[in-house]
Amino acid sequence: MSTKKELKLLTELLNLEGVKVSSHRQYEGIGIILQIEAIARESVCGRCGLNSSKLHQNRWHIIKDLSWGEKAVFLEINRRQFKCEKCRKPFSEEMGFVKERRTYTKRLAKKTIEEVLADDISSVAKKGIVTTEEIERMLKDAAAKLLKLKPVGLKRLGIDEIALIKGQGNYCAVLVDLERSKLLMILESRTKEEIKKVILEWGAEVLAGIEEVSIDLWKGYKSLVTEIMPKAQVVADRFHVMVQINKELDMQRKKEKRIIEQKIKQAKTEKEKLENTKILAGITASKYALLKNEKDLNQEQKDKLAEVKVVSQSLKLMHQLKEEFREIFEKSQQWSEALLGLGEWLSKAQKYFVNSQSTIVRWFDEILAYFDNRTTSGIVEGINNKLKLIKRSAYGFTNFENFRNRCLLNWHFNC
Ligand SMILES: [Zn+2]
Repeated sequence: MSTKKELKLLTELLNLEGVKVSSHRQYEGIGIILQIEAIARESVCGRCGLNSSKLHQNRWHIIKDLSWGEKAVFLEINRRQFKCEKCRKPFSEEMGFVKERRTYTKRLAKKTIEEVLADDISSVAKKGIVTTEEIERMLKDAAAKLLKLKPVGLKRLGIDEIALIKGQGNYCAVLVDLERSKLLMILESRTKEEIKKVILEWGAEVLAGIEEVSIDLWKGYKSLVTEIMPKAQVVADRFHVMVQINKELDMQRKKEKRIIEQKIKQAKTEKEKLENTKILAGITASKYALLKNEKDLNQEQKDKLAEVKVVSQSLKLMHQLKEEFREIFEKSQQWSEALLGLGEWLSKAQKYFVNSQSTIVRWFDEILAYFDNRTTSGIVEGINNKLKLIKRSAYGFTNFENFRNRCLLNWHFNC
């Protein structure tokens, strides 16, 4: 039997509004069970807004709360049903600290989500306080309002994509507030129609506020912007252009390597064989020396670059053009300077970068638009890395929806 004094102390320690502890017991290996009861003798009918004290039935159940030290705490609560004297219907009382039909208090959910965001679901579940299913339910409840959240003050939108499982080709579309470096939404697919649906839900006011949209070089995204955000400027993301140029340079490297290998096989004289073997040695293992930004090369890679430049004139020229292209973006102070630089680059590159050249010509306005505000999807890479990390630690996510909830909470929990 607990004394009045004990119960008063326990009520204070529990610190939940509107209830008091009426008894307590402890079970070895389980924890503390506190029986609590509401202080109020009546409750408000949700339909009529009228108070009723006419008890219809008691409904006792046990929920989990924050642990006390090493001890798990369970609350035995009675969510009473009252009968409304006006509409004559029974109603359940509202309890501020626990959502209806949940097996844990709101504050336990909050703490658990914070732990999941700092760590991952499985390690939080392993502590044994809440189950994986409960955690997923907590994430879902917390993310429910985020799904309806409209972006505030969104001016620069980034549309990008991420392959969550490498090599499987299933891409998720990622919508990002580029100024705030925040994920706005992650979608299970990247079709134009799906993205359009999500963006349209933000409403006309949000759409009208969007000044720039940074996209990769996909015309589906471009036509989407033109269609639903006609005033926004499309910016072709410079890093995606760079990726294309690098790809073409790498194709040339592979091609030359194949040709030389062939020549060695078919060599008629020892001298011819030796010469080509030297060339092959120069080209072999030159991928990163050629593709990485020259300023970021280490000494070994610099040596390799010098070596490949000696044996292949075309790779030398293409590497130089690749570096020049990057410099246009890094060094041009204004739009007009970039325009001249790009024009000059295009005429020089015509022979070597056939594919990139035609892409750049097709996207010329959008590529130049970068120089208005230097908008890029660069920060999306960081966000994508975080998404991949979440995915990897997402052991226990049973579907995409749970994964999306976890992702949204990462950037929007408590806001
Ligand atoms: Zn009523």
